[in-house]
Amino acid sequence: MSATVSQPHALRSLALLSVVAPVYNEEQLIELFVKRTCAALGDYTFELVLVDDGSSDATPELLDRLADQDPRVRVIHLSRNFGHQAALTAGLEHAVGDVVAMIDADLQDPPELIPTMIEQWQQGSDVVYAVRKQREGETAFKLATASWFYKLFDKLAQVDLEPNSGDFRLLDRAALNALLAMTERSRFLRGMTVWVGFTQTAVPYERDARHAGETKYTLRKMLRFSLDAIASFSHLPLQLATYVGIVSAGVAFIAIPVVIGLRLVDSYLPGFGSITIAILLLGGIQLIALGVIGEYVGRIYDEVKHRPLYIVREERNRPQENHLGLPVGPIERAGLPARVPDHVA
Ligand code: UDP
Ligand code: MG
Repeated sequence: MSATVSQPHALRSLALLSVVAPVYNEEQLIELFVKRTCAALGDYTFELVLVDDGSSDATPELLDRLADQDPRVRVIHLSRNFGHQAALTAGLEHAVGDVVAMIDADLQDPPELIPTMIEQWQQGSDVVYAVRKQREGETAFKLATASWFYKLFDKLAQVDLEPNSGDFRLLDRAALNALLAMTERSRFLRGMTVWVGFTQTAVPYERDARHAGETKYTLRKMLRFSLDAIASFSHLPLQLATYVGIVSAGVAFIAIPVVIGLRLVDSYLPGFGSITIAILLLGGIQLIALGVIGEYVGRIYDEVKHRPLYIVREERNRPQENHLGLPVGPIERAGLPARVPDHVA
C-alpha cells in the first residue's frame, strides 16, 4: 500500500500589486485614504491608481500633490464625471500589476483587508471578493433597496452574485484580462467579475460608515445602475412580456364562449366598466412591455455607437514599464492586448 503524500501548493509570489480607487469630490477624506492605504500595504510593492472622476472640489489638486509626494501614487484625471463604474474601468485598464484590488475611496472598505485578500490569492484564488458582515452608517432605505435589488437580481440573472458583496474585490491578472475583454458599455463590474469564472473566494469584513462627505449615488443613479445590472445579465424582463401576453390572450379565449353562452341564455348585461378596465389593463401591459423593450434597445444603441467609456484628461506618475519589464503603452495592460480601448484610437 502506498501512502499518498499531499504536496503543499507553492504559494504564488506577488511582484506588483495595483490598488484602483475611483474618486469623486472626496476632498475631505482622500488624504486619509491614501495614508491608510499606503500604511496597510507597506510590506508590498504596489501602485495606487486613483481615478479622479471629474471632481469639482479641491480633490484634483489634492491628488496631484499626493502624486508629487509619492511616486507609487498614480493619478488619472478624467475629462468629466463618467460615473463610478466607468472610473473604475479606467483604473483597471491603466493598472499594470499582476494582482489588482478595487476599492472605494471613501474608507467604507477598509484597505487593511487587502493583505488578507492577497493571502487568498497566494493560495490560488483568482477572484477574491469581500463580503460585508455588517454595514455601518447606511440608511434603512439604502439597506432595504439594496436587499430588494439583490433578491431580484438573483431571480433574474444567470450569475451567482453574493448578496452582500460590492466592488471591493481583488483579481488575478488572468481574471482581470478576461474582464477587460468584456467591452460592454453598461457595466456592472461586480457581476462581470463573477461571470469570468476562475477560482472565486469570499473574505468577510465589517463595512464601515463613510468617513466623511455624502454618498455620490443619488436615487436616480442607483436606479440606473440596477437597470444596467439586470439588463446586462438577464433577458427575462423581455421574455416576461411574452408570458403576460400568453396569459391575457388565454383569458380572452376563455371569455369568448362565456360571452356567447350568456347571450344565448339572455342574461347578458352590457358592461361598460368591465370593458374599460380590460382596455386600460391591456393598454398598460403593452406600454410596460414597450418600455422594457425600450430599455434594451437604448442599451443596444449605446453599444452600437461604441463611444469610449471615459476620456483621460491628464495623468500623473505613469510608469515606464509594467511588472514584466515591458514598455508601457498608452494603455498599460500588463497581459493580453485583447482590445485597444477606443480613446487611444
Ligand atoms: N464615485 C465616482 N464617481 C461617481 C460616484 C462615485 O468615482 O460618479 C466614487 C466615490 O468617490 C467613491 C466610490 O465611487 O470612492 C463609491 O461611491 P459612494 O461612496 O458615493 O457610493 P456608496 O458607497 O454610497 O454606494
Ligand atoms: Mg460609499
